[in-house]
Amino acid sequence: MIRENSYNKDVSPLNKNNKNSIDLQSHKEFLLSSKESFVKSIKGLFISVNKEQDSIMLYGNNKEIIGYDEEFIIFTVDESKKYVHNDYIKILIDAVINNEEETEVKIINALGQELWISVKGQSKINKNGEFLGFEGYLYNITKEKEAHLKLEYMTQYDELTGLNNRKHFKDIIEEELKNHTKLESRGALIIIDIDNFKFINDSYGHKCGDIFLKRFSEDLKNAFDDNKLLCRFGGDEFLIFLPSINSLNEIKCTTRKIIDILKKPYNINNDKIYSSSSIGISVFPDDGENFEVLLKNADAAMYIAKGNGKNQCQMFNNNISREINRIYSIQRGLRTALENNEMFVVFQPKVRLTDDEVNGFEALLRWKSNEIGFVSPGEFIPIAENTRLIIPIGKFVLREVFIRVKYLLSEGYDNFKIAVNLSEIQLRQGDLIEYFNSLIKEFNVSPKYIEVEITESMIMKSVDRNIECLLQIKDLGSSIALDDFGTGYSSLNHLTKLPIDVLKIDRSFVIDMTENDKSRYIIENIIQLSHKLGITVVAEGVEEKEQVDYLKSIDCDTVQGFYYSKPENFENVINMLNK
Ligand code: C2E
Ligand code: CA
Ligand code: CA
Repeated sequence: MIRENSYNKDVSPLNKNNKNSIDLQSHKEFLLSSKESFVKSIKGLFISVNKEQDSIMLYGNNKEIIGYDEEFIIFTVDESKKYVHNDYIKILIDAVINNEEETEVKIINALGQELWISVKGQSKINKNGEFLGFEGYLYNITKEKEAHLKLEYMTQYDELTGLNNRKHFKDIIEEELKNHTKLESRGALIIIDIDNFKFINDSYGHKCGDIFLKRFSEDLKNAFDDNKLLCRFGGDEFLIFLPSINSLNEIKCTTRKIIDILKKPYNINNDKIYSSSSIGISVFPDDGENFEVLLKNADAAMYIAKGNGKNQCQMFNNNISREINRIYSIQRGLRTALENNEMFVVFQPKVRLTDDEVNGFEALLRWKSNEIGFVSPGEFIPIAENTRLIIPIGKFVLREVFIRVKYLLSEGYDNFKIAVNLSEIQLRQGDLIEYFNSLIKEFNVSPKYIEVEITESMIMKSVDRNIECLLQIKDLGSSIALDDFGTGYSSLNHLTKLPIDVLKIDRSFVIDMTENDKSRYIIENIIQLSHKLGITVVAEGVEEKEQVDYLKSIDCDTVQGFYYSKPENFENVINMLNK
């Protein structure tokens, strides 16, 4: 070619007049340049996929994207790995199939180059929504994407340490806190301030200070699994969020790790640089429900730590740390309470007002822990519910009740019911009815001697399902009492909607009754309404004779309370029952 050219130019000047040859040459150049400009104009790679023929056709700037010189390539899906790294073929295929005009994917091509590709085009889909093919363009957008990612990185991360910056961290934590409210679990925000950092900067120079902060950040990253929850808050302050703490120990463990990091000096430019940290902790949701408040309180705690001599940690609220400790020891204790025989059931008589006869008992659970002593059910039941330990515990209570029913029947008593409290978790668990049935078989007693006490708030958590479960209990032959009426929803509507036989008026109403005309009026009317609906009324927490007299005068059916008897061991209440 070169020789031909030089011949044309130099040896045979006549040829210059050979129009044909010159035209061909310029045409070729024109074609070349126009193709180049065409390829340039689309800057990308035309792609056509035909599913039926299992063919993928690429035309255009193959070099820039898949690293091949040829401008036209056709291959099958199987052969794709020649052009795109095996691990990324599916990503690219998905981007093509699910194309919504433009998709950006990261791939590695067959030459091992990492690229960001934009896939633009239109999928062909048949009537049934099946993928037939695709036509469009692939563009190499690596440069733009990297610039964008860098910018994004700079707005989210601290340049020096690579940790989340303050703004990004706040966004992350606020998102976390939203989920937390749902989970009802505790979290902790920890603020760390390097002690005497100003001294390091002043005596060793800012460069050295920077290296110190970098090293410390690296050590933090190594000490915690989830770097997402670490932050350089600014200067020499760092934040850590613990999303779910199951024990106070977890906070302690974390703070110990932090304090330990600075126990050894950093060797920077031949200087051994010693420091320590002061740490403040706030607990979610107790010390604050949003990031700002948690931060303010953790900060306040940190100042106390500094004031107390640095190199230590401080919780914002000592009461909370005590309370958390208590909750955790209850949680721990509950796990082994049943096997250690620390739980037992006491019985409180219910008295029929028409003839002052005891017509039943409420079974109430007691726990005397070997470790922490007596714990009231008001305190441990909610914790047992949160940890779902209420399921085995509830089964224990139900079984104890069956044992007593069996005993009373064998002794010739017939005119009684024993009421047992149920938790929502038990209703929801699913095998409650099964367990009920198994006890009926085991003890061979009729469930009509058992009454189940539920509360409105329990039902409200999942109305349809819980009502279904109550109906099944009723079908077995047990009765159902609505407990604590007057505290929660107290909806009269529930009296007609829920399958209840008994209404228990809460103690707070009974207390109010003697002083408050309105309370009296409400109770009177509730009793009348209940009677019209065929519902029996029990008044709870009756402590005084006047209360009994008044309740009698307004036709209340039954009372329960210290006036007659506290909840007692079974042996102590049997003799209150008449045969
Ligand atoms: P509750 O079902 O409303 O039980 C009545 C509570 O009032 C009992 O407290 C009882 O001792 C108390 N009480 C009865 N009469 C009087 C009185 O005249 N004056 C005063 N001041 N109090 C009276 P307890 O035994 O501490 O139980 C508290 C709550 O714990 C119960 O409230 C119930 O919600 C729950 N609970 C107890 N045992 C169980 C159980 O086996 N399973 C479930 N799920 N919850 C239980
Ligand atoms: Ca009750
Ligand atoms: Ca009650």
